[in-house]
Formats: sequence, structure tokens, C-alpha cells
Amino acid sequence: MAEDFRHFTSRILEHWGAAVETDREALEALLPPELAARLGMAEHVRLRFSPQDRNGSAAAPTEGQLLTYGSPVLEKVLSLLTDKGTVAAVELQGLYLKQAAPGPEIERLFQPLNARGKFVSAGAAAVPYGIFNFRYTAVSDEKTEGLVSVALNGRSLAEVSGVAHRWHEVEWRERSQEEGPLASAHPVAAVYQRACRLAQGHISRTLSEFHHSRERRLGRDIQRLQEYYLGMAREIRARLQKKGLSGEEAEREEAKAAAAERELQIKVRDLEDKYAVRAQVSFVSFLSLAMPVLTACVSYQRRQAFRELTFFWNSLLKEWEALACEACGENTFAFSLCDEKLHVTCAPCSRPCSLCGRRFCSACHSQGCPACASVKQVKQKQERRINR
Ligand SMILES: [Zn+2]
Ligand SMILES: [Zn+2]
Ligand SMILES: [Zn+2]
Repeated sequence: MAEDFRHFTSRILEHWGAAVETDREALEALLPPELAARLGMAEHVRLRFSPQDRNGSAAAPTEGQLLTYGSPVLEKVLSLLTDKGTVAAVELQGLYLKQAAPGPEIERLFQPLNARGKFVSAGAAAVPYGIFNFRYTAVSDEKTEGLVSVALNGRSLAEVSGVAHRWHEVEWRERSQEEGPLASAHPVAAVYQRACRLAQGHISRTLSEFHHSRERRLGRDIQRLQEYYLGMAREIRARLQKKGLSGEEAEREEAKAAAAERELQIKVRDLEDKYAVRAQVSFVSFLSLAMPVLTACVSYQRRQAFRELTFFWNSLLKEWEALACEACGENTFAFSLCDEKLHVTCAPCSRPCSLCGRRFCSACHSQGCPACASVKQVKQKQERRINR
């Protein structure tokens, strides 16, 4: 993470005209006077990205200002992004395109589960990729935050995660305003929606440890409360029995025990409120990348119908990209084609229905098995009639 921050910060500062030098632990920059004034920093700054020095002990303040999640320095650097550079377009250059015949390799890598494929053609193309950066904050009794990057192929909408971290390893140039980003095959809203969905998955996986530790603490606190209040109620009732109390006195003691139990419920609700997670995700920036890729076209036959699929050999990652399932959006190398519209779906999205055992396409029927849905509707209607 420190590595990402160092790279990210030096690129932003350079973009604003700073001269930047980095070493293993820190970044040293000479800022133009206007930038220094804007950031409220000296013209010569040293930033470090870990609270520890090389030997693992706490770094002295003289070793530079700390830039990490939640630090004021990061906020200042991010504020540069909100004015400039939320959207940018670049073109990757000097990438070599694989020449070998792709047919056999595609046959080896991709597995059509219910169709037969025939290689059609291969060619070179410039394909738009989108890198979306999001920022998330999750607050419960503790707070955690971070950045997630999602990279997708603008034509296939498949996630190509390596691109976000590696595109700057090769030569690139910024595309001029007149050129703009390379057009995607899909409406911007559809690409953005897919990116949001993928980011959501990444964030919930990242936050699962946060959730677990929160559940552990919540469970422990509830147990403590139960031990205290239930113990108290038990003691009161035991005393009541031992003394053989009756009438008004007994009622008074019983009321005390019941009050302790009610108090426990209130306290547990308060605790649950305290531990509830409020998560917020916001868009930070978008980068459009034009990349030369090798494309291969394969025609698949499902019963009497045909569908041509395009595969992409990514020249940056030097590998064939996965297909995106047209139902759930997840990457897949094994796929089915549906009978109705020849949708490409991953294995879980074309699984047989758990109730009737019939296969159905989750892209055509996002609400679930159509046969069972209509059976359910008929049943509900019947029930309603009976109830009347
Ligand atoms: Zn799927
Ligand atoms: Zn069914
Ligand atoms: Zn379908």
C-alpha cells in the first residue's frame, strides 16, 4: 500500500509541476510556490508513507510528514484531484502484439459447456479500457477506509484487474482534448454501473475482516451484559424463593427482576446501534486507456443458432482475458449459451433450478426459474381465493 501511495502522490505532484525524487521510504519534492501555497506546505517537502522507519521502529518527525489513510496530507493531495484530473485519457504505446495463431489457444483456455466453436478470424484493434477509482469509508465503533480500483475492458465489460496497477509500467501518452477517450461499445452508464457492481464486491470482501472483528466485539459485549443483568434477575428470584416471600413483597421483588431483564433488552439495542456499520462509497476518478490488443473471433453453435464471440489478448498483461458472464458480470472461462437469446453465462448462472431441476438462463430470467415463478404465482392466487 505504501508503494501505491508513493507512486500515486509523486504522479499527482509531478502533474502539478513539482520536481519529485523518491527513495525506498519517502518522497522528496520541490513544489512550485503556488502549489506549496495551495497545499499549505513548504516548497521543499519530504513525505513518508509508513509510520515506521526501515528498522520497524517509530519514525522521527524529522523524517518527513506522514501520508496515509486519514492523514491531513492525503486529504490535501486528494483535493488536487477534485479540481483537475478526475477524468483523463491516455494511450499505451510500444506494446507488442502476439502473432501466433490464436485458435488452438482459445480452444484450450475457454470451455463452451453446451456449444461448439469454430475459429473465424484474428486481428489487431485499439480497445478502450476504463479504470475507476472509488473511495470507501466504513464506520461502526471503529472506522476503516481505503481506495479500490476497478479496471474493465470497455468492449467486453470483463474485469481486467492487473491493468489498474500495471499500465504505467509501459510507455504512454496523454490523449488530447480533441481526441478524447476512445469510444466504448457500451453507454457510459452501463460501464459505470458494471464498475460500481465490481467495486461493491471488492469492498465487501475487503471489509469482511472488519465485519468479523466487529461481530466478535459485539458478541463479547452482549455476553457481558447478559451475564450481569440475567445474573441479577436470577439472584433476586432465588432470594425471593429462599425467603418464601409472598403478596406485595414478592410482587415488588419480581418487578425488580423483570426490570433487570427489560434493561438488558434496551442495552443490547443500544449496543447494536453502536456497532451498526455505515458504509459510504464515492467515486474518485476515471482513467480511459486505449490499448492495442489482439482480437479473435469464434463462432459458437447452440442447436440451430450461432453467436460470434470476440476474445481479447491483452498486450499489457500478455494473456487472454476472461469473458464476462452476461447475467452476474463475473469473469469466466467456462460458459454456456442460453437457448432463448444465446447469452453468455457462467456455470452458476445456468445451473438447474433447485426446485424443478430445469435449466434456465439468469440473464433472461433475473427473478429466478420462470417455470417455478409461474407455479408460485398460481399457488399465491389460489391461496388468495381460499382466504377470501
Ligand atoms: Zn454468472
Ligand atoms: Zn424451477
Ligand atoms: Zn438468456
